[in-house]
Amino acid sequence: MAVSPISAGLRCRCPNCGEGRLYRGFLTFKQRCDACEADLTVADTGDGASFFVMFAALIVIVPSAGFFQLAFDPPAWVHALIWPPLTLAFCLFLLRPIKATLFALQWKHHAGQAKFADDDKQD
Ligand SMILES: [Zn+2]
Repeated sequence: MAVSPISAGLRCRCPNCGEGRLYRGFLTFKQRCDACEADLTVADTGDGASFFVMFAALIVIVPSAGFFQLAFDPPAWVHALIWPPLTLAFCLFLLRPIKATLFALQWKHHAGQAKFADDDKQD
């Protein structure tokens, strides 16, 4: 049965079997899946996950800070106390599942580096 890339990604599991853990550190992928021995070095998400997480933080945090300012009119030190740690926590919480989901989508769709059509003839 095919593994859903969204399900495997959000659970940070192997996109091939959906069972083995994907990470060996906070953001470092394992070389091979513990459960199915799939080669996990065939795809690379690069900075994609960081971009999407920062963009989500922009969409969620900035309007929240604006609403907070308009509703309560707090002094600036309150903003400095609340929003940087909240932004950091938001990004760190989302980074692993988003990176794993992008990796699983690359895995499913066999995404790779762009090549010219003539490159296949030379190999
Ligand atoms: Zn696996």
